[in-house]
Amino acid sequence: MQIAHDRLAEFVTRIFVAAGATEAVAREVADHLVAANLKGHDSHGVGMIPAYVANIRNGNLQVDAHANVLRDNGAVLMIDGGFGFGQVVGREATDLALERVRTTGIVCAGVRNCHHLGRIGTYGEQCGNAGYVSVHFVNVVGHPPQVSPFGGRERRMTTNPFCCVVPRPGEEPLVLDMATSAIALGKVRVAHMKGEPVPEGALVDHEGVPTSDASVMFQEPFGALGPFGAHKGYGLAVMCELLGGALAGEWTAQPAHPRNTNIVNHMLMFVLDPAALGAGAAFQDEVREMVAYLRGTTPARGFDRVRVPGEPEQESRAARLADGIPIDDNSWNGIVRAADAAGLSAGDIAALTG
Ligand code: NAD
Repeated sequence: MQIAHDRLAEFVTRIFVAAGATEAVAREVADHLVAANLKGHDSHGVGMIPAYVANIRNGNLQVDAHANVLRDNGAVLMIDGGFGFGQVVGREATDLALERVRTTGIVCAGVRNCHHLGRIGTYGEQCGNAGYVSVHFVNVVGHPPQVSPFGGRERRMTTNPFCCVVPRPGEEPLVLDMATSAIALGKVRVAHMKGEPVPEGALVDHEGVPTSDASVMFQEPFGALGPFGAHKGYGLAVMCELLGGALAGEWTAQPAHPRNTNIVNHMLMFVLDPAALGAGAAFQDEVREMVAYLRGTTPARGFDRVRVPGEPEQESRAARLADGIPIDDNSWNGIVRAADAAGLSAGDIAALTG
């Protein structure tokens, strides 16, 4: 199906209100998820709703939790998310960092115990749109690992996202926002839902043999997702695990910690005011000229043009604002079942989706 973003956001808001969230919290989570779909990341959009509703119902996700400052050392903050919606506590933690960076020039903020933060680029864009550089190291725990270390066969890590953002006055910031696995697990889920293969080189089966069959991630005997970029992507994933997980969260994917169906993110975030380094017009000129230089490259065979990080998301957003958001039948059925489980009546669901 294809659905307009505002209708979808209204349906999602009603699901989370029915599940116990306040109108404001439900709206913020819905807007974040739908924005991820608009930006082309169906892996981190409304397809997550069944998992969120299940985690509300089993007590993993606290719908009324907000960011709580545990330590305040001026430019260094430690914030606890209380297992609240990551979309809310992550935004609140970023608000706190942005307020502080105005006086300190740089902020390092640890944010621990967030239920799924969703699309990490959302927090990067929050910083970039306010004129700041940001870097985010994130790990993912609360459930069994899915990603094998470089050179290994078993799952020992998760999809550990990394994000880095450069602001541009009057323009969208440059946003590098990515899983450190070969592809995001949610993209394997979307392929599984659609019955489509995943790109070669991303998955191995339980014997370590490369496969494009997404079901090896969801049915026993389990295979594993590999890191992107061989040992280099693996190395970045390890740093996300140690900086986001060990340092900010004190909770890595090692097996002493609880593993159920929870989705917990810990994030270490650096926010920098370019002006604190004396950067002004020359910095922005360099960014503009370098981006133009990159984009002016002659396309390689099979490519239409060269883009910079964040551009595919802008293009997807423009297209999906105009045409609506495509949702495959399996994902849609899962969302409708979650709406029912959250407590929306069949009549409400029909009225909101009909
Ligand atoms: P992706 O591979 O689609 O894109 C990664 C980055 O590459 C983006 O910054 C994008 O703008 C850039 N890019 C893509 N194509 C490009 C091109 N042709 N030229 C230049 N730049 C290009 O993203 P992904 O790795 O599938 O991650 C998807 C989302 O999943 C991200 O938003 C990430 O934050 C999220 N994620 C979240 C979690 C979590 O636990 N919360 C875990 C993993 C991933």
